[in-house]
Amino acid sequence: MKEIKVVIMGGGGVGKSALTVQFVRNVFVSTYDPTIEDTYRKPVIIDGQQYLVEILDTAGTEQFMALKELYMKSGQGFILVFSLTQLGSVNELGPLREQIVRVKNAKVPLVLVGNKSDLRAERQVPREIGTNMSRAWGNVPYYETSARKRINVDEVFADIVRQCRAFEMLNGS
Ligand code: GDP
Ligand code: MG
Repeated sequence: MKEIKVVIMGGGGVGKSALTVQFVRNVFVSTYDPTIEDTYRKPVIIDGQQYLVEILDTAGTEQFMALKELYMKSGQGFILVFSLTQLGSVNELGPLREQIVRVKNAKVPLVLVGNKSDLRAERQVPREIGTNMSRAWGNVPYYETSARKRINVDEVFADIVRQCRAFEMLNGS
Protein backbone atom coordinates (compact mmCIF):
# COMPACT_ATOMS: atom_id res chain seq x y z
CA MET A 1 0.00 0.00 0.00
CA LYS A 2 1.32 3.42 -0.93
CA GLU A 3 2.11 5.55 2.09
CA ILE A 4 1.41 9.29 2.16
CA LYS A 5 2.96 11.37 4.94
CA VAL A 6 0.85 14.34 5.96
CA VAL A 7 1.72 16.98 8.55
CA ILE A 8 -1.04 19.03 10.17
CA MET A 9 0.02 22.39 11.58
CA GLY A 10 -1.39 25.63 12.96
CA GLY A 11 -1.89 27.54 16.18
CA GLY A 12 -2.87 25.99 19.50
CA GLY A 13 -6.53 25.11 19.95
CA VAL A 14 -7.60 25.51 16.33
CA GLY A 15 -8.67 21.87 16.06
CA LYS A 16 -5.73 20.01 14.52
CA SER A 17 -6.14 17.03 16.84
CA ALA A 18 -9.94 17.07 16.61
CA LEU A 19 -9.77 17.03 12.79
CA THR A 20 -7.18 14.25 12.78
CA VAL A 21 -9.04 12.06 15.28
CA GLN A 22 -12.36 12.68 13.51
CA PHE A 23 -10.78 11.61 10.21
CA VAL A 24 -9.04 8.53 11.60
CA ARG A 25 -11.49 7.30 14.24
CA ASN A 26 -14.81 8.97 13.41
CA VAL A 27 -15.22 10.54 16.82
CA PHE A 28 -15.08 14.12 18.07
CA VAL A 29 -12.80 14.80 21.02
CA SER A 30 -14.09 17.71 23.05
CA THR A 31 -11.26 17.68 25.56
CA TYR A 32 -8.30 19.83 24.77
CA ASP A 33 -4.72 18.82 25.44
CA PRO A 34 -2.46 21.19 23.53
CA THR A 35 0.65 19.17 24.33
CA ILE A 36 -0.31 15.89 22.67
CA GLU A 37 1.69 15.25 19.54
CA ASP A 38 1.11 11.95 17.82
CA THR A 39 1.16 10.02 14.58
CA TYR A 40 -1.99 8.42 13.21
CA ARG A 41 -2.49 6.03 10.30
CA LYS A 42 -5.55 5.35 8.23
CA PRO A 43 -5.97 3.22 5.13
CA VAL A 44 -8.17 4.93 2.55
CA ILE A 45 -9.32 4.30 -1.00
CA ILE A 46 -9.19 7.37 -3.20
CA ASP A 47 -10.05 7.24 -6.89
CA GLY A 48 -9.98 3.45 -6.67
CA GLN A 49 -6.44 3.38 -5.29
CA GLN A 50 -5.45 2.29 -1.79
CA TYR A 51 -3.28 4.52 0.38
CA LEU A 52 -2.03 4.45 3.93
CA VAL A 53 -2.30 8.02 5.16
CA GLU A 54 0.11 8.78 7.97
CA ILE A 55 -0.69 11.98 9.82
CA LEU A 56 1.68 13.79 12.12
CA ASP A 57 -0.51 15.85 14.45
CA THR A 58 1.83 18.57 15.68
CA ALA A 59 1.56 20.49 18.94
CA GLY A 60 3.89 23.36 18.12
CA THR A 61 5.97 22.66 21.19
CA GLU A 62 9.16 21.75 19.39
CA GLN A 63 12.00 23.04 21.47
CA PHE A 64 14.37 22.99 18.59
CA MET A 65 13.88 24.52 15.20
CA ALA A 66 15.89 21.61 13.78
CA LEU A 67 13.28 19.11 14.93
CA LYS A 68 10.51 21.03 13.25
CA GLU A 69 12.50 21.22 10.04
CA LEU A 70 13.13 17.49 10.24
CA TYR A 71 9.47 16.59 10.20
CA MET A 72 8.80 19.20 7.56
CA LYS A 73 11.40 17.46 5.41
CA SER A 74 9.77 14.08 5.87
CA GLY A 75 6.25 15.37 5.24
CA GLN A 76 4.90 15.07 1.71
CA GLY A 77 1.75 17.12 2.20
CA PHE A 78 0.74 19.82 4.66
CA ILE A 79 -2.58 20.84 6.16
CA LEU A 80 -2.48 24.34 7.65
CA VAL A 81 -5.34 25.03 10.05
CA PHE A 82 -6.73 28.16 11.62
CA SER A 83 -9.93 28.62 13.63
CA LEU A 84 -12.82 30.54 12.10
CA THR A 85 -13.58 31.73 15.64
CA GLN A 86 -10.13 33.20 16.26
CA LEU A 87 -8.87 35.93 13.94
CA GLY A 88 -5.37 35.78 15.42
CA SER A 89 -4.97 32.14 14.42
CA VAL A 90 -4.90 33.18 10.75
CA ASN A 91 -1.72 35.18 11.25
CA GLU A 92 0.21 32.17 12.52
CA LEU A 93 -0.02 30.46 9.16
CA GLY A 94 1.99 32.85 6.95
CA PRO A 95 5.31 32.23 8.72
CA LEU A 96 4.58 28.48 8.87
CA ARG A 97 4.03 28.28 5.14
CA GLU A 98 7.18 30.29 4.46
CA GLN A 99 9.15 27.85 6.57
CA ILE A 100 7.63 24.84 4.78
CA VAL A 101 8.43 26.31 1.38
CA ARG A 102 11.99 27.05 2.51
CA VAL A 103 12.56 23.55 3.89
CA LYS A 104 10.90 21.66 1.04
CA ASN A 105 12.34 23.96 -1.58
CA ALA A 106 9.43 23.21 -3.89
CA LYS A 107 5.81 23.87 -4.72
CA VAL A 108 4.63 21.65 -1.93
CA PRO A 109 1.20 19.96 -1.65
CA LEU A 110 -0.79 22.09 0.79
CA VAL A 111 -4.35 22.66 1.95
CA LEU A 112 -5.65 25.65 3.90
CA VAL A 113 -8.36 24.95 6.47
CA GLY A 114 -10.65 27.22 8.50
CA ASN A 115 -12.07 24.99 11.23
CA LYS A 116 -15.01 25.23 13.68
CA SER A 117 -17.56 26.27 11.05
CA ASP A 118 -20.30 24.93 13.35
CA LEU A 119 -19.70 27.80 15.81
CA ARG A 120 -21.55 30.31 13.64
CA ALA A 121 -22.29 32.84 16.36
CA GLU A 122 -18.62 32.97 17.34
CA ARG A 123 -17.25 33.37 13.85
CA GLN A 124 -14.58 36.06 13.51
CA VAL A 125 -13.07 35.19 10.14
CA PRO A 126 -15.12 35.85 7.00
CA ARG A 127 -14.79 33.42 4.14
CA GLU A 128 -13.03 36.06 2.01
CA ILE A 129 -10.01 36.05 4.32
CA GLY A 130 -9.57 32.37 3.59
CA THR A 131 -10.13 32.67 -0.14
CA ASN A 132 -7.80 35.70 -0.37
CA MET A 133 -5.07 33.81 1.45
CA SER A 134 -5.57 30.80 -0.80
CA ARG A 135 -5.14 33.05 -3.84
CA ALA A 136 -2.06 34.73 -2.39
CA TRP A 137 -0.54 31.29 -1.86
CA GLY A 138 -1.00 30.27 -5.49
CA ASN A 139 -4.57 29.01 -5.30
CA VAL A 140 -4.07 26.35 -2.66
CA PRO A 141 -7.42 24.68 -1.90
CA TYR A 142 -9.37 26.27 0.96
CA TYR A 143 -11.88 24.37 3.05
CA GLU A 144 -14.10 25.41 5.91
CA THR A 145 -14.51 22.44 8.21
CA SER A 146 -16.14 21.31 11.39
CA ALA A 147 -14.35 18.56 13.26
CA ARG A 148 -17.33 18.50 15.59
CA LYS A 149 -19.95 17.92 12.91
CA ARG A 150 -17.59 16.06 10.57
CA ILE A 151 -18.05 18.59 7.78
CA ASN A 152 -15.46 18.56 4.97
CA VAL A 153 -13.10 16.38 7.01
CA ASP A 154 -12.73 13.54 4.49
CA GLU A 155 -12.60 16.12 1.70
CA VAL A 156 -9.52 17.83 3.19
CA PHE A 157 -7.60 14.58 3.51
CA ALA A 158 -8.67 13.32 0.08
CA ASP A 159 -7.48 16.61 -1.43
CA ILE A 160 -4.04 16.38 0.13
CA VAL A 161 -3.66 12.73 -0.93
CA ARG A 162 -4.58 13.65 -4.53
CA GLN A 163 -2.10 16.54 -4.50
CA CYS A 164 0.65 14.29 -3.15
CA ARG A 165 -0.06 11.70 -5.84
CA ALA A 166 0.02 14.36 -8.57
CA PHE A 167 3.21 15.80 -7.12
CA GLU A 168 4.90 12.40 -7.16
CA MET A 169 3.87 11.76 -10.74
CA LEU A 170 5.41 15.07 -11.79
CA ASN A 171 8.58 14.64 -9.78
CA GLY A 172 8.96 10.91 -10.30
CA SER A 173 9.17 8.77 -7.19
P1 GDP B 1 -5.29 21.69 18.53
O1 GDP B 1 -4.49 22.37 19.58
O2 GDP B 1 -5.21 22.42 17.24
O3 GDP B 1 -4.95 20.24 18.36
O4 GDP B 1 -6.82 21.79 18.97
P2 GDP B 1 -7.82 20.63 19.44
O5 GDP B 1 -8.10 19.70 18.34
O6 GDP B 1 -7.33 20.01 20.69
O7 GDP B 1 -9.14 21.49 19.72
C1 GDP B 1 -9.16 22.53 20.67
C2 GDP B 1 -10.55 22.66 21.24
O8 GDP B 1 -11.47 23.06 20.23
C3 GDP B 1 -11.08 21.34 21.79
O9 GDP B 1 -11.86 21.59 22.95
C4 GDP B 1 -11.96 20.82 20.67
O10 GDP B 1 -12.99 20.00 21.15
C5 GDP B 1 -12.49 22.10 20.08
N1 GDP B 1 -12.79 21.96 18.64
C6 GDP B 1 -11.96 21.47 17.69
N2 GDP B 1 -12.55 21.47 16.49
C7 GDP B 1 -13.79 21.94 16.67
C8 GDP B 1 -14.92 22.17 15.80
O11 GDP B 1 -14.89 21.94 14.59
N3 GDP B 1 -16.04 22.71 16.38
C9 GDP B 1 -16.12 22.98 17.71
N4 GDP B 1 -17.27 23.48 18.17
N5 GDP B 1 -15.09 22.78 18.54
C10 GDP B 1 -13.95 22.27 18.04
MG1 MG C 1 -3.58 19.09 19.33
